Amino acid sequence: MTITGPRIEPAPATADRPSHAAPVVPASSRRTGVGIGQVDLDTSGFWGRKQDTNRRATLEHCLFWMERLGWLENFDRVARGETTIERAGWQFSDSEVYKLLEALAWELGRSADVDLQRAYDGLVARVVAAQDADGYLGTAFGHAGLADRYSDMAMGHELYNVGHLLQAAVARLRTQGSDALTDAARRAADHVCAEFGDGARAAICGHPEIEVGLMEFGRATGDERYVRQATLFLERRGHRTLPVRPLLSAEYFQDDVPIRRAEVLRGHAVRALYLSAAAVDAAVDNDDVDLLDTLENQWARTVERRTYLTGGMGSRHQDEGFGDDFELPADRAYCETCAGIGSVMFAWRLYLATGDVRYADLIERTLFNVIATSPREDGRAFFYANPLHQREQVEEADEGVNTRAEGGTRAPWFDVSCCPTNVARTLASLSGYVAADDEGVAVLAQYMSGHYAVADLTFDVSTTYPLDGTITITVVDAAEGGGVLRLRVPNWCARATVVTADGEPVDVSPGWVDLRVNAGDVVELRLDTSPRVTWPDPRIDGVRGTVAVERGPVVLCAESADLPAGVTLNDVVVSTTDAPIVWGDGARIAAHVRPPSAVRSGRPPFGTRPEPGQAEPLALTLIPYHRWAGRGPATMRVFLPVGQE
Ligand SMILES: [Zn+2]
Repeated sequence: MTITGPRIEPAPATADRPSHAAPVVPASSRRTGVGIGQVDLDTSGFWGRKQDTNRRATLEHCLFWMERLGWLENFDRVARGETTIERAGWQFSDSEVYKLLEALAWELGRSADVDLQRAYDGLVARVVAAQDADGYLGTAFGHAGLADRYSDMAMGHELYNVGHLLQAAVARLRTQGSDALTDAARRAADHVCAEFGDGARAAICGHPEIEVGLMEFGRATGDERYVRQATLFLERRGHRTLPVRPLLSAEYFQDDVPIRRAEVLRGHAVRALYLSAAAVDAAVDNDDVDLLDTLENQWARTVERRTYLTGGMGSRHQDEGFGDDFELPADRAYCETCAGIGSVMFAWRLYLATGDVRYADLIERTLFNVIATSPREDGRAFFYANPLHQREQVEEADEGVNTRAEGGTRAPWFDVSCCPTNVARTLASLSGYVAADDEGVAVLAQYMSGHYAVADLTFDVSTTYPLDGTITITVVDAAEGGGVLRLRVPNWCARATVVTADGEPVDVSPGWVDLRVNAGDVVELRLDTSPRVTWPDPRIDGVRGTVAVERGPVVLCAESADLPAGVTLNDVVVSTTDAPIVWGDGARIAAHVRPPSAVRSGRPPFGTRPEPGQAEPLALTLIPYHRWAGRGPATMRVFLPVGQE
């Protein structure tokens, strides 16, 4: 790892640092997400392994690429006063550096590491050196040879970048306390308030992010001005003040309708989700019940009509945006990895605000089927888009920069490389999204092997989930008189049983289940994860006449690598008369190889109804969608056509 810049010593932890080192800590809430120090994931578990790979490989990988492409050098050039129009990267490349800093801060908060500390210190020194005297921090505008500050509010991303700086500073403040990075973040936030506050420039940034950054920075520092500024940005949006570019629209920027009047998420998916996450924060901290209610309704309609089976959001490639209701084609599914992350951010905040189980259900779906899908097993290549149907087998990605976001193979880095660093910071802070303290009740919202200290309880979770649906919880320690453990029975689960400490099995339904437990108790949750067939709403024209197969929280897919020689996925139709069976970590379903379509007349590929032909039976192997393309480039489909039954 090559790090330049002077070494700075880490700041000592402050005496008053919050005990909950989590990405989201509402100012006043009956529910508090656990801090990263309260959950220690086993590296043998599904998520612990991914988190470990992230720490050992992905962080260094991101640093390597940003150095190689000159995105770090951009900061040095500002510090040296040597900026020119020949600048490396897009206007938002600074944000990738900040997302990496956020990931490093969370990881260093979990445990010390000499290499990661050196990387963090080196990056902080270079970032801080580029800050202007008035707090402005940015490498794409406002310096010699570059366009003026805030001269392109629609696409300049200057405030977006600062939002990510603030989230990195929050990670540092809540883990190790203040240091040079958090001081720089404070100066940058003060500059934003001075520049865009009441009575100053009444503008908004084309890409929401400053709002969610300011909200959490306000919470972490206790400075109300930042919360006020975030609220101002939220209220200013939706009045069509941003100039609209060709091929885009006010909707793209969520500048078409004020957030209080919107009925559903629309436009650019990541923008819409970051904005919504910030709006939940503002609604909670400002005690704005109407806004929270509106956001819950927007979420519900978006999930019921504009969200893929995987939890992926955004079907349109042109503007990386949401489609209309039920516009969910499998092959043109965009489902950007960052949108999955934004969805988890939005849903987690809604969970903390309401305690509603459906938010935790969507988080699970999105974690296993979008976020787990993006990084390659070794943590050094990523999916940007996550379509549910890959028609053509693409070339293996080379080691260069991928200029296309929609490839059918994971790439080491992208021209627009928002997703790798977003995955990195999400995995680094993952334990902040899995459990909560709800007025003394220990809520286990997701099932990941590890050691937990939540509310009055300390317990171990042991499971091979999602491979198997048995989750064993051993209470190691409890307060006097015991404590209450709240478990989630997922909404996909038709049969679930809790075996209590006295060995009594009790059938339970989807939703929350509360158990009173004492030290030494062992309880077991048994979820039926048998493979099941899922039918889409017939209003989704793009997948009508098809079914998908799921196993527990995992969406399965068929991949060309599992087909007999000479058979393609275009030839296969499945039968739903027999239930699919467990096969490895996936399933097998009865299928047929369809004979070449015998169109009797017409102009191909259209014509009159084909004659039924002789079909060859086939046991079709399905694998977890999150593993697809893991054996090299392939064709793949989640939704499978159903034959005549
Ligand atoms: Zn992205």
